Amino acid sequence: MKAFTYERAQSAEAAVKAATATPAAKFIAGGTNLLDLMKLEIEQPQHLIDVGRLPMAAVEDTADGGLKIGAMASNSHAAADPRVRQRYPLLSEAIVAGGSPQLRNKASVGGNLMQRTRCAYFYDTSKPCNKRQPGAGCAALEGLNRNAAIFGASHACIATHPSDMAVALAALDARVETLSPTGQARSFPILELHRLPAERPEMDTHLVPGELITAVVLPPPPKGAQVYRKVRDRASYAGGLASIAVAGPNVALGMVAHKPWRAVDAEAALAAGATPAEAMARELDGASSAGRNDFKIALVARLGAAALAEAKGERT
Ligand SMILES: Cc1cc2nc3c(=O)[nH]c(=O)nc-3n(C[C@H](O)[C@H](O)[C@H](O)COP(=O)(O)OP(=O)(O)OC[C@H]3O[C@@H](n4cnc5c(N)ncnc54)[C@H](O)[C@@H]3O)c2cc1C
Ligand code: SF4
Repeated sequence: MKAFTYERAQSAEAAVKAATATPAAKFIAGGTNLLDLMKLEIEQPQHLIDVGRLPMAAVEDTADGGLKIGAMASNSHAAADPRVRQRYPLLSEAIVAGGSPQLRNKASVGGNLMQRTRCAYFYDTSKPCNKRQPGAGCAALEGLNRNAAIFGASHACIATHPSDMAVALAALDARVETLSPTGQARSFPILELHRLPAERPEMDTHLVPGELITAVVLPPPPKGAQVYRKVRDRASYAGGLASIAVAGPNVALGMVAHKPWRAVDAEAALAAGATPAEAMARELDGASSAGRNDFKIALVARLGAAALAEAKGERT
């Protein structure tokens, strides 16, 4: 691991100020992703700003009947909150589907959204990776791409975003609140947080350097059933191959793109009376695969049809 300096931020304002003052600084919250990447020297921050103990861990009711979850709330705390379990069971299930209890106890809500891809070549410094080293090439294009994207990939990167929580938040129309380096508070839809790779796969999100996530805000839950389903190789301590979040009329897919993928074609088909299988087929018209992940298209078709049928109260 490269040497670095460390400070514990005393406030959100102080954290973004410190990040602006040191260009090679990074925030650290639970450290469950960042420390792994630092040990492999994939991330090489010169300065760490510890935001993990900022007083932004509360889960609070909002005036319109929604919930605000502080960015420093642990994944376990967010999933166990009775209001989350009762009003947003989808979110609770999605969080519990991620990592292991130990990881969820440490991992923060903000860190979960900002975690980096699990593409094996991103972690293997002996292989070319445009995300790790812009312009180096993409070993996954012709390599082990079983986990790769089937939507929105580019010739520069076919990696997926691994967060379960983000998929549920996308289906729930959550908003992200941030504090920018200039001290401005921002609020925007979660679908505007992550980006597709295009020519710049080294950039995972639309945040500006030094921008701190302070909370996620859930609107009142949509009418209708909530379902989260995930397929993975092992039942615990493993990232997923694909997931789906259904919240009333809203459908989001996970681990299929560089960002949580809102399945707008499936939503439109369902609204027009399509069956779950027809709706998934409509969404997957736009899918493409890279070889070893060809199976993902059939997997997502079946996973999605089963989850949508469950949401309609049909036996699957
Ligand atoms: C074995 C293993 C299995 C896993 N399986 C899953 C899984 O199935 N599903 C899943 O969703 N996740 C999974 N994870 C990932 C885990 O959920 C993340 O590592 C965790 O959520 C990251 O949160 P953290 O607080 O530890 O972030 P950190 O490691 O502290 O930070 C991660 C990144 O976020 C940035 N960051 C942190 N907080 C903020 C903030 N408030 N604003 C802006 N930037 C910030 C940091 O600078 C860093 O770049 C797994 C991890 C491991 C190790
Ligand atoms: S898919 Fe993206 S993360 Fe994986 S090797 Fe290619 S550029 Fe790197």
